Amino acid sequence: MLVAVLSDIHSNLRALEAVLVSIGSVDAIWQLGDVVGYGPDPEAVVQRLREAGAIGVRGNHDAAAVGDLSTEDFNADARVAVEWTRTHLSEETRAYLAALPEVLVPDGFDFTLAHGSPRDPIWEYLTDTRAARENLSAFATSRCLVGHTHVPLILRQKGIHMEGLDVDAEDRLQLDERRAILNPGSVGQPRDRDPRASYLLVDTAAGHATWQRVRYDVEATQEAMLVAGLPPRLARRLSFGV
Ligand code: ZN
Repeated sequence: MLVAVLSDIHSNLRALEAVLVSIGSVDAIWQLGDVVGYGPDPEAVVQRLREAGAIGVRGNHDAAAVGDLSTEDFNADARVAVEWTRTHLSEETRAYLAALPEVLVPDGFDFTLAHGSPRDPIWEYLTDTRAARENLSAFATSRCLVGHTHVPLILRQKGIHMEGLDVDAEDRLQLDERRAILNPGSVGQPRDRDPRASYLLVDTAAGHATWQRVRYDVEATQEAMLVAGLPPRLARRLSFGV
């Protein structure tokens, strides 16, 4: 089975469309949350993902956008974007986002999906090996897929510890008996100084995972954000991948 793993799309329709073209034909699309927030096209992004048959979990921005999470812990720009998003969702899309689970194990797969981490799906940023090790007891499958940091990363078992491996575009990881937590990076707002949309392709038969980067029309997204009245700083950062 060929599975595309998308995270942190953040209402960036142009980035999502470019990624869907790049993906081509796959057996499944999994999304790791923060479908909305920051970007200018929340409604269209959710509809496009649903059309593509994606399944997945919700992130902190999705929860806040449907009123299930206070925006107190969001920074000022993110809060403005969440509040804007709340007024740009149809009733149907709001219900869809509200019904997304926080953790998901797709039927028949050895993968757990969560936005931040399996033990704290909405908020924890999994960036270090110690937190990764503590999280191993919070999921039962061999692999866990997380987003939230917007930075591609591999955290893998090494003896009784975990090791962290940075990821470059087109890096391929052979999946073996070691348990691992993989982050595909962000489709709609990358933060690893590469503005291209990031995603992960998992080939379960061949047993490997490959990180991919895709160029999209960043300026068109920025223009749409400014027209929508979203914070200019959120638009600018897309040029730099920060
Ligand atoms: Zn996010």
